[in-house]
Amino acid sequence: MRRMLSSRVNAVRESATIRMSAIAREMKRAGEKVLDFSLGEPDFDTPAHICEAAKKAMDEGFTHYTASAGIPELREAIAEKMRAENGVDASAENVIVTPGAKQAIFEAMLSVLDEGDEVILLEPAWVSFEAAVRIAGGNPKFLRRKEKSVNYEDLRAVVTEKTKMLVVNSPNNPVGYVMDERELREIAEFACDYNIIVLSDEVYEKIIYGKKHVSIASFEGMEERTIVVNGFSKTYAMTGWRVGYAVAPIEIVSAMTKMQQHSATCAPSISQRAALAALKGSQECVAEMVAEFKKRRDLIVKRLLKLGFSCEPMPEGAFYVFVGIPAHALTAAFGDSEASEGDEKRKGVAEDIIFAEWLLRSALVVATPGSAFGEAGRNHLRFSYATSLENIAEGMERLENLLSQ
Ligand code: GLU
Repeated sequence: MRRMLSSRVNAVRESATIRMSAIAREMKRAGEKVLDFSLGEPDFDTPAHICEAAKKAMDEGFTHYTASAGIPELREAIAEKMRAENGVDASAENVIVTPGAKQAIFEAMLSVLDEGDEVILLEPAWVSFEAAVRIAGGNPKFLRRKEKSVNYEDLRAVVTEKTKMLVVNSPNNPVGYVMDERELREIAEFACDYNIIVLSDEVYEKIIYGKKHVSIASFEGMEERTIVVNGFSKTYAMTGWRVGYAVAPIEIVSAMTKMQQHSATCAPSISQRAALAALKGSQECVAEMVAEFKKRRDLIVKRLLKLGFSCEPMPEGAFYVFVGIPAHALTAAFGDSEASEGDEKRKGVAEDIIFAEWLLRSALVVATPGSAFGEAGRNHLRFSYATSLENIAEGMERLENLLSQ
């Protein structure tokens, strides 16, 4: 029989973030008292006025297909937001509404990449960027950034004839850094000089602590080469509604719309109405959630540092903390019989994966192994602090008990 699966899908690993959360979900279903720091998903309810707009849409029978690129009012509202808040001169034609921001990333990559085109990813990079590049037939080129900013020379060192795209993700998942204007300007200059398209994932734009978000699309010469991706999941606690968007040059939006016509057709009609209410309504709910995230960040970082994990610098955005696992903690995990080095099956498995499994087994604490975000993430763990202060306190207590045994 012929090989069943395509080489494209074989080149892609399962999403580590989704995998870890699926494990946590299953364990919770089985009645285990799991503390879940795996998924980047706000635990708040979607604000009431947003839910009301969805109910109203249903009552009005707004439950059918919409225009593939999204309802005109929402495309216009997104363009208006881009002009008012991001300094990007967008109109509704520059906007496509998608079923989640992830879909926008896939459509963008499928629209601009040819077989063998290279995409620069700054490591550690969120798990699905690499997958999207590979599925679109491209090749990821990793450049280590971690907490140190990248500059023109760093980028020049990895650029080749085949480089077509560069991905920027600020505020960042998994590290939580926020790129300042100087770094973004240098990346923009590089993109213009080398004629490279920038995909800027700005989905954590509003989840930022005391810093100002700058969109790379706002720099001179960038509007014509930037695909800004954003969504409603994180800002408005709307993960299940599946609604995201991209703002890009019309040519790219048209190509993405073609992809969408042939795949999802459109984002859910009801969710689009809800998203419109989110943008047009009071932003007080966002400020409240961000204030709460900040308290959680302060607590989890303090406790992890106390346990010897390293976290440099302090996360300034998103809701993740990306920590280096201290040697004594690795020793404790490896000392455990089930995770011992002698086990054949364990050979070649990154230490952080073994550590994360040990943490899950021994303390019912779920975190995502850092190596899922690339080589630069080895020996690290990502904790999502989109969970209550009580859960954070208890999770850290379990970690403390485990490491003091
Ligand atoms: N973006 C979130 C995370 O990194 C949700 C899961 C996913 O899409 O990877 O946890």
